[in-house]
Order: sequence, then C-alpha cells, then structure tokens
Amino acid sequence: MSWFERLSVSWVLRKHALPDHDWFEVTRKLPLLSGLNSSEKARLRLLTTLFIHQKVFSGAQGLELTLEMKIIIAAQACLEILAFNIAAFDGWSEIIVYPSTFRVERETENEFGIISTESRILSGEAWTKGPLVFAWDEVERDSFQIREGHHVVLHEFAHKLDMLNGRANGMPPLHPEMPVSEWTRSLSEGYERLLERVEHCHGGINPYAATNPAEYFAVMCEYFFTAPALLFERYPDVYRQLKAYFQQDPLARN
Ligand SMILES: [Zn+2]
Repeated sequence: MSWFERLSVSWVLRKHALPDHDWFEVTRKLPLLSGLNSSEKARLRLLTTLFIHQKVFSGAQGLELTLEMKIIIAAQACLEILAFNIAAFDGWSEIIVYPSTFRVERETENEFGIISTESRILSGEAWTKGPLVFAWDEVERDSFQIREGHHVVLHEFAHKLDMLNGRANGMPPLHPEMPVSEWTRSLSEGYERLLERVEHCHGGINPYAATNPAEYFAVMCEYFFTAPALLFERYPDVYRQLKAYFQQDPLARN
C-alpha cells in the first residue's frame, strides 16, 4: 500500500468509523463470525468500514436500507477477503437490495443462434464489472443461522472474486505460491464427481453447484465457510485449495 493509500484509509477509519454499538450488536448476531479471534474481528471491522464507505447501497422497490443491513452484508462479504485487502472488491461499486426474491428477464442465445427471453426468479445476482443484487429476506435467512452450504452473500461475492480476472469461470486469481495445476486438478475432479453424484441422485451437496464451474466455485465457497467439516469430508482437495486461496481455515475455528 502506498503512503497515500495508507493516509486515505486512516482518514476513512477516523471520519467514517462504524459506531461500536452498531458493529457489536450486528456482528454478535452473525454465527458465521463467531469463531473469529479478536485480531481477525478487528481486521474484519476495518475492511467492513472501508467497504461501506466505498460502495453505494441502493434499496429497490421502496426498501429502506439501515446501517445494520449494510453491516450484515458487508461484514460477511469481507469475511471472504479477511486475508486480502479491500482492493479485492475493486472494479464495481453498487449493491442493490430488493425486499424479496426478484424476477429478471434475459435474452439468451441457444447453440443454433436463436434468441429467446428467459425469465427467472433470483435471490442474488452478480454482474461482471456491475452491481451485486440481493433479496433481503434471503440475506436474513442465511445470515442469522447457519444453513449448511447456503449463503447468498458468500455466494455472490465469491462470483465477484472469480470475476477479478475476467468472466466468472471458477478460477479467481490465485496467489503466486499456489500452483494453477493443483487448483485445476482438485476443482475439476470435485466437479466431475459432483456431476456423477447428481446424475445418480446421491444428495449431500447442493446440486446447483453442478450448473457450471463458476457456480461450482461459488457453492464450494458457501460450504467452505458454513460447513467446513462436511466439505473437508466429501472433497478434501477442494477444501485444501480454498484454504490456500482464502488463507483461512474455518475447520480450525469450529
Ligand atoms: Zn451463482
């Protein structure tokens, strides 16, 4: 970080500090954060403060966003970048929150070049270089109690990390010490095994992960933080790669 960046960070932290009351009231209600030690919590607060200062939150359909709601989204998003810095979420600025699940209509092109309009109901969506969109009731449902493998905030922000090096494809920029070949082998093998299991209706992991490699990565990130023991038991190599990528070990926290 340059001296100028350090100066501007310390200015934000002084001028836009999150009030103690709001920070502690909200974060004590989030089970995802309960295993963090005090220095991790302090680091998370710093990242959350910068995040809320840098991003623009907009409520859709008349939803009024409170500071508490912003902290709930931002703190859990920043858990994913606890070992990185806030620049990991650079390149986009807006977070749009609907009161509930929202309908999107998109034009899709099939293999024959025929364009049709597809309508889908979503609980969250991440645009490349664009906004993140959430349904507030889904954020609440996933935030206040652990649902193994289900966390819309972790999911959509994982897509944002994945998109740091282009389109979402299941491979975010890896740290220099992480061999790309090991990442590719571990995640591809895990993905292939999941496809087989889904085909033979062997449950366990959310079958949405079998949609494509980008969704696989995002869903594995949900498991990594919400059900690390389950992920380690089913896909130990995927767990190890995510541990190396996030530079965190949620299994050791439980
Ligand atoms: Zn997704």
